[in-house]
Amino acid sequence: MNIPWGYPDFDAHEALYFVTDEKSGLRAIIAMHSTHLGPAAGGTRFWHYADDADALTDALRLSRGMSYKNAMAGLPLGGGKAVILADANRSKTPEMIAAFGRAVNDLGGKYVTAEDVGMSVADMIGISKQTRFVAGLPVDGGAVGGDPGPHTSLGVFLGIKAAVKRALGKDSLQGLHIALQGAGSVAGGVARHAAAEGARLTIADVDAGRVERLAAETGAAIAAPDELLSIEADVISPCALGAILTEESIAALKAPIVAGGANNQLATPQDGERIHARGILYAPDYVINGGGIINVSTEYLGDGDYSLVRERIEAIPVKLETIWAESAKSGRNPAAVADAMAQRLIGRD
Ligand code: NAD
Repeated sequence: MNIPWGYPDFDAHEALYFVTDEKSGLRAIIAMHSTHLGPAAGGTRFWHYADDADALTDALRLSRGMSYKNAMAGLPLGGGKAVILADANRSKTPEMIAAFGRAVNDLGGKYVTAEDVGMSVADMIGISKQTRFVAGLPVDGGAVGGDPGPHTSLGVFLGIKAAVKRALGKDSLQGLHIALQGAGSVAGGVARHAAAEGARLTIADVDAGRVERLAAETGAAIAAPDELLSIEADVISPCALGAILTEESIAALKAPIVAGGANNQLATPQDGERIHARGILYAPDYVINGGGIINVSTEYLGDGDYSLVRERIEAIPVKLETIWAESAKSGRNPAAVADAMAQRLIGRD
């Protein structure tokens, strides 16, 4: 493995921490991409990686994505992300979570964590016993907090509606076919909103139990995970893992819109151009999926109530419109337009 300065996806990250706790078996990477706008904020992913280099790549890419996401959501936060390298059985222990919490605490607030794939509210409670630099915690009495997933889902749903309006000229998802990759926290919320508006759904997940439960709840059809992206639908909504939009998968797309909550959907920057060249409307992932961090930010900073969260989430489709309009004007693809806007905001243009 190259040291990070020469590493693909290294983007002048301000700091990288490699955490080891032999007693609990914890191995984690905490990546701080930028603190230009505030503390580096972004969730922790608990995942089994085929090799350590994949984990580093994920941490580098996800933390840069958080810098862009927080900037585009108008939050006073920089971008960071942590990955915990799980074993093949993805065994997670309270000792491991506590050791991770201590590592976050040692950074003195430069990095603030919350949930991501594989981490739950219960894990955040475990981390909060070691550090105050954590959000996504349960709260009482209607205060802002808790699982960011439903807020991410709301922003993705509103973003899908904006894309449908722009590409298909329709004000509602009624009767439209939405294909969702994933049946987890984000996909589940999107599916419920879309089903309530009368959309027809197809869902795929590698976890058969999860996909069956969500399909039963929302009346969705089930597809095989490797077929989902090439389904004939009005909207493909990637809400599982990243790097799924590749030269091959883009060539096979049969939908006019790709708009979903997964982070880092484009395998390479060229894929943003490829999808654009095919005339498919793409919603830049870190813009459409900002709802969760908006809620986390409001919880952590204590700067507003749920009406402010709602207002900030409702600004997501407006921001997407600005990006698509600029893309239509300049001919540049929406992902490149969004990157340029975000880089300006974090002082890296
Ligand atoms: P989750 O763990 O609840 O769900 C992810 C689901 O994807 C799981 O059910 C998993 O089995 C499934 N999956 C994995 N590989 C798959 C494949 N090849 N095909 C189909 N399904 C597959 O996670 P989540 O919180 O719903 O997050 C989903 C995505 O959204 C991630 O990329 C995450 O980084 C991103 N995201 C989440 C939030 C949030 O608030 N939770 C916020 C922003 C972005």
